[in-house]
Amino acid sequence: MHTAAILVAGGTGSRFGGDLPKQYLPMNGKSVLQATIDKFAAHPRVDDLLVVIAADAELLYQNAVREPRPRFVLGGNSRADSVLAGLRELQKTSPDLVLIHDAARPHISAQQIDAVLDALVNHEGCAPALPIVDAIKKMAPSENKILADADRNDFVRMQTPQGFHFGKLVNANEVATNRQAAHDDISIALMAGMDCITIPGDPANIKITTRDDMSQQTIAISGSGFDVHRICEGKSLFLCGVEIGAGFSLQGHSDADVALHAVTDAILGALAEGDIGDHFPPSDDRWKNTNSRIFLKHAMQLAADKGARMRHVDLTIICERPKVKPYRLAMRECLAEIVDLPLSRVSVKATTTEGLGFTGRGEGIAAQAVVNMELPA
Ligand code: MG
Repeated sequence: MHTAAILVAGGTGSRFGGDLPKQYLPMNGKSVLQATIDKFAAHPRVDDLLVVIAADAELLYQNAVREPRPRFVLGGNSRADSVLAGLRELQKTSPDLVLIHDAARPHISAQQIDAVLDALVNHEGCAPALPIVDAIKKMAPSENKILADADRNDFVRMQTPQGFHFGKLVNANEVATNRQAAHDDISIALMAGMDCITIPGDPANIKITTRDDMSQQTIAISGSGFDVHRICEGKSLFLCGVEIGAGFSLQGHSDADVALHAVTDAILGALAEGDIGDHFPPSDDRWKNTNSRIFLKHAMQLAADKGARMRHVDLTIICERPKVKPYRLAMRECLAEIVDLPLSRVSVKATTTEGLGFTGRGEGIAAQAVVNMELPA
């Protein structure tokens, strides 16, 4: 089976509100068109890839798509004409099957492509479709007047890729009586009496139409951190960036800010970047008496390098003394500034251990932190 795919990128993007057609706009570090191309180029069952672009879009295409670029042909004035230009180009190699896909649907999955191709074993045409979940009404055009109920089970929302037996679709384009009225390629196939079915579509496979659709796809990541420092003689200690004159200190190579260390480790955990000791070994004299804000800022820089963003941090300090409550707001303000969050998303809590264990005996102070972050998908 020789399978070709046509990516239809001929649209003018006039609904988008910008100068550039939407398939040429950047999303997650590459153009929408490049993202769509990558999905089809990586699919093992797609042997040939052709992009149909608007007549004046050659330079846009060169700028938006990196080498090795799929070959392209210039489209026509309508979607139907653009697809026809692609089919004519493919007639030179005459594939068995053809997939026709909107270039502005970059979230197409390999599974969806497989499912369309699988359906073509027994049918001449196939497209993914989604059920309608909202109530459907028949309307009077331009009057906003509701005329009657309609049964939503009679309708579906069509997606792409739409797949066809290549020769049958070429023939359908020749015999279809009203090609220009076709909304999609299934329309043309139906005009020619082809046997077409739908398969369940994928809600994630949206067609990018508005700026909201461009919003970055992210995944949620989280990390936890835990740290302990021993109490020692001294005048004051640092807790979450705030110096507290407690009449004792915390022992450590750096300033021993156990709370900031726990938050730093939580961020490193979310990024799967090891722990604070990997980045700032106690054996390295550079970090002697260091202000622990530097550790936290380093972790935030690592996050920024990966495009990760902080969403929420929750810190718990575990000790009998000092009493944390009088310093809690100052601690939240310090943490909020370093991790660049509003106060409403920075939590600092404290607890004792009821006199039990090393914290209860006043031998050390412990801290634990949980961070939630988002990472580009
Ligand atoms: Mg530590």
